[in-house]
Amino acid sequence: MVSSLHHPSIALISVHGDPSVDIGREEAGGQNVYVRQVGEALARLEWDVAMFTRQTHADQPRVVEHLPNCRTIRLTAGPEDFVPRDEIFDYLPMFVQEFLRYQRSIGHVFPLIHTNYWLSSWVGMQLKQHQSVQQVHTYHSVGAVKYQSMDALPAIATTRLAVEQRCLETAERVVATSPQEWDHLRSLVSSHGRVDVIPCGTDIERFGHVSMATARQALGLAADAKVVFYVGRFDPRKGIETVVRAVGQSHLRQDERLRLIIGGGSRPGHSDGRERERIEGIVADLGLQAQTWFPGRISDEDLPLYYAAADVCVVPSHYEPFGLVAIEAMASSTPVVASDVGGLQYTVVPGETGLLAPVRDAAAFAQAIDQILSQPDWRDQLGRAARDRVVDYFSWDGVAIQLDRLYRKLLLGSDARHLNQVGA
Ligand code: UDP
Repeated sequence: MVSSLHHPSIALISVHGDPSVDIGREEAGGQNVYVRQVGEALARLEWDVAMFTRQTHADQPRVVEHLPNCRTIRLTAGPEDFVPRDEIFDYLPMFVQEFLRYQRSIGHVFPLIHTNYWLSSWVGMQLKQHQSVQQVHTYHSVGAVKYQSMDALPAIATTRLAVEQRCLETAERVVATSPQEWDHLRSLVSSHGRVDVIPCGTDIERFGHVSMATARQALGLAADAKVVFYVGRFDPRKGIETVVRAVGQSHLRQDERLRLIIGGGSRPGHSDGRERERIEGIVADLGLQAQTWFPGRISDEDLPLYYAAADVCVVPSHYEPFGLVAIEAMASSTPVVASDVGGLQYTVVPGETGLLAPVRDAAAFAQAIDQILSQPDWRDQLGRAARDRVVDYFSWDGVAIQLDRLYRKLLLGSDARHLNQVGA
């Protein structure tokens, strides 16, 4: 592998978010999608892309080719089994050693790494002690913000907070995915370090090209149904309980056409099974079983159908640095009702592309959902504006161009520094 500014190489490091697994189960969500989409988009811009992640099953292939110049590479670090992200830290030194070994095996040292989530940021900072490399980092979740919404902190909290601060202060560039995340980093993590805002993106060709009628027919939903849709990981932080309770309080609750679809999650026995059972329990307590459908993990092929079939997509997260689901729904011309937090305040424009409601406030969510469901013309207007907003600001290709520009600037800067040193 030869890296030059014409055909540069980059390592995307995502220790716990494997870019080539099925999304929607256990802990696989937005980060996995981000890394895969960034990697593939960069490859289309002539980058040679290697995406490094942890092997989580003995039978997984070591290498997955996405495109001729874009692949996932799995390194063994700890058990070849699912390990919750809060328990991965101790295996990171092994990940670093395996990464270095891989570089030796191909005779190439990556000049640029883009690390994802704090675990990978630690790997990146260690690599800098072994080689000359520039680090770009995306947090995906900021501990200092996340912990504000939690009653009991995990044992790893102190380590995570310290690593997140050191990364912000030492990385060549941090990418905040929303202005809200930028504010959080500055006010809660450190006033030092270089941060650019480059949002997450979505594929505007994949979403928004199927009509509601066709989608409903394909999914076996009635043409006149009133469809409220959630999709995402089953994690208490995602606030699924709020959308269930909101539907329980909706004016349309007795309307036979009302449908609540809750997509995502594994079958029982997996790490996210407990939240799934808890949510099913609340649905039963509220007597909503007849209206509610749990399709499980939604595949990449089916996802555009679900968004198109929905009247409204609800994103009730307690905390969301960006929130890909919101822009996927918007790209599908489906208005979004979201928690008034984090990146959702950036993507959803209240009254124009959807509505925002206070976190965990089921009554406010119910009111917002009812407002949209009871005014079909307004609903369509919100949907059109939502699509326009995604096309203007959040298409993957546009986002990849911004990242490409940043990486090239960093590589050019390091070349210039190198030349100065040589000339001095
Ligand atoms: N997702 C999916 N199928 C599912 C559940 C989720 O493809 O059954 C995808 C969803 O479309 C989105 C991602 O998982 O691309 C979730 O990302 P988001 O940023 O909304 O949440 P996170 O997982 O990062 O908390």
